Amino acid sequence: MLTSIVGINWGDEGKGRMVDLLSRDYEIVVRYQGGNNAGHTVVCGNKLFVMNLLPSGILRSGIVNILAPGMVIDLEHINKEMDAIEKSGVRITPENLVLSSRATICLPFHSLLDSLEEDRLGSRKFGSTRRGISPAYADKYMKKSLRMIDLFYPDDLENKVKELVEWKNLTIEKGYNAEAVDTESILRWLDRFGKPLIPYIKDTTAILSQAVAEGKSILFEAQLGALRDIDYGIYPYTSASSTLAAYATIGAGIPFAKLDQVIGIMKAYSSCVGEGPFAVELFGDNGSRLREAGAEYGAATGRPRRVGAFDAVASRYGVQMQGCDCLALTKLDVLSYLEKIPVCTAYEINGKRTGQFPSSIEELFASKPVYEYFPGFGTDIASCRSYNALPKEAREYVHALEELVSCRIRYVSVGAERDACIEIV
Ligand code: GDP
Ligand code: MG
Repeated sequence: MLTSIVGINWGDEGKGRMVDLLSRDYEIVVRYQGGNNAGHTVVCGNKLFVMNLLPSGILRSGIVNILAPGMVIDLEHINKEMDAIEKSGVRITPENLVLSSRATICLPFHSLLDSLEEDRLGSRKFGSTRRGISPAYADKYMKKSLRMIDLFYPDDLENKVKELVEWKNLTIEKGYNAEAVDTESILRWLDRFGKPLIPYIKDTTAILSQAVAEGKSILFEAQLGALRDIDYGIYPYTSASSTLAAYATIGAGIPFAKLDQVIGIMKAYSSCVGEGPFAVELFGDNGSRLREAGAEYGAATGRPRRVGAFDAVASRYGVQMQGCDCLALTKLDVLSYLEKIPVCTAYEINGKRTGQFPSSIEELFASKPVYEYFPGFGTDIASCRSYNALPKEAREYVHALEELVSCRIRYVSVGAERDACIEIV
């Protein structure tokens, strides 16, 4: 079974939480795009884990976790994340963690460039995590990157770094008037944070090819959501990578394999980090109450997330782009406090009503939400553990969303803990 777990919305739908739960039935979990701009939070026992780079299967013993070729990996960050997770009592060894030799290295000057550009933009900034993800992907496509495999060839590495630094300083020093980067410091960084990773770096394509041939079950874990996809998202307020299920096997390094199943993770309301159009955004008291109820603060950055009602126009588009077979609806418990629940069922753009998600940023900014209201649940549903235990109004809300996005909801999550999830059979 090859299953991809992907986000339907702007990210932070609870993918990590669902990967942690569903990985019980899988042997391998693969993160296939993005970098440490991800924040996947998993509550397990009474411990809270935040994964930026590590796949969310790392918390279960017996699972092989892979960071695949489609990722950009900050070596310093992965070292620190491995240490932090180990301190929480999870053992990490080359048996349960493998880093692809083809993955791109996110270097210190990438985060520097990310920050220099956000600062230059000032009020026009993108709201980047400043972790260098876009600059790292840009360099990958410029064919001016280091890959994990380069750590195995120190002599060549020195020359490659020299070349890169010379080229980068044209931008850093001459473009931004910032202090030049020096080759030595990058080489020291690569040595310090690269060496400990050597036992983990392998040809993951070979490992996964064999796993596919042996019929092993593989879970592909995406970062962010459909609306942040570089090609089909709200460009330019997207991420730098493909967040779609269709990219899973490519990013994972096994482009010849076929997915059996795509599970979309869709949030019962909306949240969004960073700048850009967000038609359903709630402000004032309504916004604060939802933000507090959903504890909507970024896992990677701690930033308060923008929040709003469920957006059926954006979500239907997300479900379509992901090619979902079924959905997990998360954070339904968060809506327990509402007397009536707003759902955006259409946009009004320059006086015209539409159910079609616009492709231009101009129309996205001009979109005004049209709301329908559903009755509140009348009780806190966080302790419900079966579909029938949910109040009628909650079941009706679930069913209404299924109809609105034309896809079956198979899981309903009512809490962050592993067991707080209902499977609708
Ligand atoms: P991801 O980036 O898609 O993995 O999602 P995040 O981890 O960034 O954000 C989801 C947040 O909601 C995390 O803090 C989870 O612990 C929490 N969470 C996940 N599912 C539920 C749920 O059903 N109810 C509640 N109350 N919290 C949840
Ligand atoms: Mg997140």
